[in-house]
Amino acid sequence: MIGIAIDGPSGAGKSTIARALAKELGYIYVDTGAIYRTVGLYMYRVGVSTEDTAGIEKNLPDVQFELKYENGEQKMYLCGEDVSDKIRTPIIAKYASVVSAVPSVRAFLLETQKKLARENNVIMDGRDIGTVILPSAEVKIFLTASAESRADRRVKQLAEKGEIVGYEETLAAIRERDERDSGRDVAPLKAAEDAVLLDTSALTLEESVAAAKKIVEDRLGEKKTQKQSVKNKDKNHSGLYYWLLKYVAPFVRRLMCVHTYGTDNEKNEGPLIICANHTAIFDVLSLAVSFKRQLRYLAKKELFKIPLLSQLISALGAYSVDRGANDVGAIKKTLSLLQNGEVVAMFPQGTRYRGVDPAETPVKNGVGMMVYRSHADVQPVFIRVKGYKYRFLRRKDVIIGEPIRYEEFGFTNGGKEEYERAAKLVFDRILALRNEGLDK
Ligand code: C5P
Repeated sequence: MIGIAIDGPSGAGKSTIARALAKELGYIYVDTGAIYRTVGLYMYRVGVSTEDTAGIEKNLPDVQFELKYENGEQKMYLCGEDVSDKIRTPIIAKYASVVSAVPSVRAFLLETQKKLARENNVIMDGRDIGTVILPSAEVKIFLTASAESRADRRVKQLAEKGEIVGYEETLAAIRERDERDSGRDVAPLKAAEDAVLLDTSALTLEESVAAAKKIVEDRLGEKKTQKQSVKNKDKNHSGLYYWLLKYVAPFVRRLMCVHTYGTDNEKNEGPLIICANHTAIFDVLSLAVSFKRQLRYLAKKELFKIPLLSQLISALGAYSVDRGANDVGAIKKTLSLLQNGEVVAMFPQGTRYRGVDPAETPVKNGVGMMVYRSHADVQPVFIRVKGYKYRFLRRKDVIIGEPIRYEEFGFTNGGKEEYERAAKLVFDRILALRNEGLDK
């Protein structure tokens, strides 16, 4: 049986996407949130308050629920009554979120969910499908979207049904639920290590479905080829870049006097954001010849207009950014590269600072936002060059630090303050490397 896990916060589009995919693939769609909602409805009906954990546990054995498929649609029954519509109210959403944080409730519902996946090809959506229910699912997608865009969608959805709700209160409810779902001790909302991240903030529903479909097709296709043949170990290197790296890098390293420290720290797999201090235009090159994996990086769009240079930097992994504008395309491209497990190099300072102590320079929030949205780990790197004249030929020490795991950032709902804090953490780790290897 094949299992596809879709996790993520409420309102990111999980159910719509999962339903569309299930239809296309002929799998059954299991909405696990509906099961928690049914338990929540029961507790609400018997008058247990949301604060009363003991009451929830005491009443749990009496919850007789059934999950049925009628015309391909999942229906929830509570004590014989079809409650599929009654569980879709804000108060029951709150109850569901509260009961789902009680460990015995999760244990009570575990087997039902596992059994469904054992007996059917399933697409399941929820919060802990990829981590707890189907840890060996063939495909895992972690679907996110900013709290603001989810609130906006919700308000519009309800307005279409003739229900008018305020944006601010909807946003507050979403944040409260996110916090409860992510902060709980048992099965908190978090992406599985091997999940593909898909941020739908800037996508329409159709685009989100298409993106999810592509991930599923790629992953299922990849699984097939994995079975058929041993995978090419150098899959991160491609074409000209790989060739250059293998044969030219040693000469470039010598010419530019690049000395790399901490190569054992390099994270060899999965999405990664490399962050370094920035003093010279060729910093990217120093990084490129120091890492085994291929780096991708942003380059000014003007550079792509210059013949030959354009081809060369593209082959070296550059993609274009419009510096003057708020380039949404470049952000999307970066996120999609990371979603594909690639490595992107960034400079948290946002620009080059020649001859200035990096500890004295400002740090931009952009890196924090990228980490939050991609869930990628970050590899801090300090590039040390003495003096700032004739730098191309001077000795450069590229010091690779230990990766900072995404979880270390402790994000809750994103936002400016969290991005700022994350960017600062990254830059502090970069600065902490500045004296490494000096004794050698
Ligand atoms: O997805 P939906 O909004 O219907 O889920 C309702 C609530 O059930 C969520 O806020 C979450 O707290 C909980 N839930 C869960 N684990 C799942 C699915 C839902 O904790 N697998």
